[in-house]
Amino acid sequence: MRTGLEDILGEQTAEELNPNTIQERKKRALVIAAHPDDADLGVGGTMAQLVLDQWKVRYLIVTDGAKGTTDINKTYDQIVSTRQQEQINAASYTGVTDIKFLGFPDGELDSSKNLRKTLVKEIRQFQPFRVYTHDPEPIIINNQVINHPDHRITGLETINAIYPSIRDPKYFPEHFHEGILPHKVKELILWGTNNVNYEIDITSTIKDKLLALMAHESQFDFTSKKLSQIAKEWTENNEKFTEAFRRIVIFE
Ligand SMILES: [Zn+2]
Repeated sequence: MRTGLEDILGEQTAEELNPNTIQERKKRALVIAAHPDDADLGVGGTMAQLVLDQWKVRYLIVTDGAKGTTDINKTYDQIVSTRQQEQINAASYTGVTDIKFLGFPDGELDSSKNLRKTLVKEIRQFQPFRVYTHDPEPIIINNQVINHPDHRITGLETINAIYPSIRDPKYFPEHFHEGILPHKVKELILWGTNNVNYEIDITSTIKDKLLALMAHESQFDFTSKKLSQIAKEWTENNEKFTEAFRRIVIFE
């Protein structure tokens, strides 16, 4: 049965104005990371908290991670399957179970129309309130770390997808005809940044984050001994752990 409101606004809009729908959509976070392990490094503690707070969290892993080894004799299939399984295992510690692997070749990302179209479709389908990804701007982070080219391209094409492509139906109109609707992301949150304006205290979930990092066995020499060392130092110094971000509340 139609209501007066639906007659005026249309069924879609009336549904969107439903308080339960609005509340549910405010609790969707999409994490777009270049490689298996980046999400756990960048936002693992924060995601563990969001999951506990009943958020719906999805990880999109853009590349296959196939160059993440120092062993020239390992095959493509061995590396990719190892890294995918490590990512699934890692995310289980932070409570994230929704993970998609997009399979672009590791180390070879460029700003292609295909990458942007893929990201636009994924964001339109998931309809996130927040998107977390790499800050594409720094080549050097904190005068200490060289930012991987795949990180920069992932961040850049995620931002390019958010504005304006996902919002306007004339961008990749085939999505609209497949029933995938335009969308507006409300908050963009970037890690690996030189412009920190937003910090999350992850003291309550640091253990989950460390366990997640340990699960990437092929990438980190992150033994349980090292884990207990970190925990001990933390106790002795009485320090809190944080994840630092650049947060953009998207103005409409
Ligand atoms: Zn990476």
